[in-house]
Amino acid sequence: MSFKISDKIKLAVKQSPEQVTRINIGDLTIGGNHVIVMAGPCSVENREQLLKAAQVVKDAGGHILRGGAFKPRTLPYSFQGLGEEGLEILAEARDKTGLPVVTEVLAPEDVELVESYADILQIGARNMQNYPLLKKVGKAEKPVLLKRGMAATIEEWLGCAEYILAGGNMNVILCERGLRSFDKVTRNILDVTAVPVIKQVSPLPVVLDPSHGTGVRSLVSPMAKAGVAAGADGLMLEVHPYPEKAMSDGAQSLPPEMFRRLMSELKPVAEAVGKSV
Ligand code: PEP
Ligand code: MN
Repeated sequence: MSFKISDKIKLAVKQSPEQVTRINIGDLTIGGNHVIVMAGPCSVENREQLLKAAQVVKDAGGHILRGGAFKPRTLPYSFQGLGEEGLEILAEARDKTGLPVVTEVLAPEDVELVESYADILQIGARNMQNYPLLKKVGKAEKPVLLKRGMAATIEEWLGCAEYILAGGNMNVILCERGLRSFDKVTRNILDVTAVPVIKQVSPLPVVLDPSHGTGVRSLVSPMAKAGVAAGADGLMLEVHPYPEKAMSDGAQSLPPEMFRRLMSELKPVAEAVGKSV
């Protein structure tokens, strides 16, 4: 392999070129030939909003429902999420639609609670290097979606995945969500190159998040397609029934009709790289 990745990373790096980790969630497989779309609002705001979003995701052909109940906000005055009430609403949406749920866990002491509701535990970009949290989810039963820190190298990101794998939890999904840069035109610089790098060096599935990666609604669809073309195993997309009223990340959230259009436009892109969506 021609990439410079520390040979001390054992589990998060391929030991042979064919090695692939496939993660099963209900009937879904992440890391196979089917592109998995995780979509939903940034935050669970209330029951009506989340159930509506879940139905939009389901009807458009999305596979997994996302939504934050514990929110990592830049300021303490911003909406911090509904906590356990948000988890209950997510579980209700899963019951109604059949969609598995991915949601963020912010703190080690909340892992058991979040795990009792969620199908996938999300570790946010700000917590990528929260080692006590990584060790805790390394002992969890549920798969973990590990977002790349906003200033993390690929090697550091794989090192954090190694913490979870070394704890015994082999079901880790990596998520590229954009890097901090000097250019303020977009919220972040989405590192699409990380997708084929991960596919070549790591057995773990990799998902692209063009919502946080760009911060701009009109850029989500082109970058989602770029991610699928580059070989992403899935996408994480923010979708809101009324983005203009969103309590967080409205500017990057797709309204229902844009999400539906994107889902149909992804099909030929996936087919072009030998996959389906
Ligand atoms: C989110 O998914 O809403 C989120 C907070 O993402 P990130 O950790 O990538 O900023
Ligand atoms: Mn968000």
